[in-house]
Amino acid sequence: MPGFFILEGRLLAIALVTGASRGIGKATALQLAREGYTVAVNYHHNIKAATDVVNQIIEYGGKAFALRADISDETQVMAMFESLDREGEPLAALVNNAGILFEQSTIENLTAERINRVLATNVTGYFLCCREAVKHMSHQHGGKGGAIVNVSSAASRLGAPGEYVDYAASKGAVDSLTTGLSLEVAAQGIRVNCVRPGLIYTDIHASGGEPGRVDRVKSLLPMQRGGQPEEVAQAIVWLLSEKASYVTGSFLELAGGK
Ligand code: NAD
Repeated sequence: MPGFFILEGRLLAIALVTGASRGIGKATALQLAREGYTVAVNYHHNIKAATDVVNQIIEYGGKAFALRADISDETQVMAMFESLDREGEPLAALVNNAGILFEQSTIENLTAERINRVLATNVTGYFLCCREAVKHMSHQHGGKGGAIVNVSSAASRLGAPGEYVDYAASKGAVDSLTTGLSLEVAAQGIRVNCVRPGLIYTDIHASGGEPGRVDRVKSLLPMQRGGQPEEVAQAIVWLLSEKASYVTGSFLELAGGK
């Protein structure tokens, strides 16, 4: 990354990954550490899982620390970003990854409470983290520029009818956020891109799916298989890297051809 110092193979810059204690976030945190970033491992509840990720990175010879914050809570998000200031390294990268998905439901059974919870995390949380990251990265605020990747979903294009239209709509907002913000901050040295994973084998599918749903979805995919979290992580790492230095406002489909 231009403008960031490199010392003994390590980039003296922070990558913050939200929801990094498991799944796609964990895989991304581990790969970013291998690229030399200092990794801020955000977690919501599970301090043990987050500490395990940090320890894996340190054992490998990397640098990482855990940061607790509910991304839907503005005060907690602001405190998380303020604590980055104390690390003495600039923020180079944000991966907006933390997200929630409730059980399958048709529209008749969607409660306002559920819809608001999905939007609070998947939309408001992404906005808040983008806002604070831009403050840290912007040349106008003395930052060195940077890159943001928003983790959306193939559901934003496909709609998830009869299953999770609330979740799909929240990811549609993430897509729209990516487009608007990428244009707003391009001149400030900040790139904003988006990945849209399809079926990825993580614990997000553990709650509430009909029996055999994952196999049914898999059989409909052109590649006839789901993806691994590491396959999403490597795309995110690329979008954050200098190899993608002229890429902003883009959407990368990671959905097995769907
Ligand atoms: P996951 O459930 O394994 O991980 C999600 C993480 O987000 C968890 O660590 C959870 O604790 C954290 N989180 C949830 N709410 C939070 C909050 N308010 N504050 C902080 N952290 C919070 O799921 P995953 O599959 O790794 O999902 C990661 C992202 O990928 C999500 O945004 C999800 O919507 C997206 N995605 C996943 C798939 C898939 O098939 N797995 C497909 C498309 C998109």
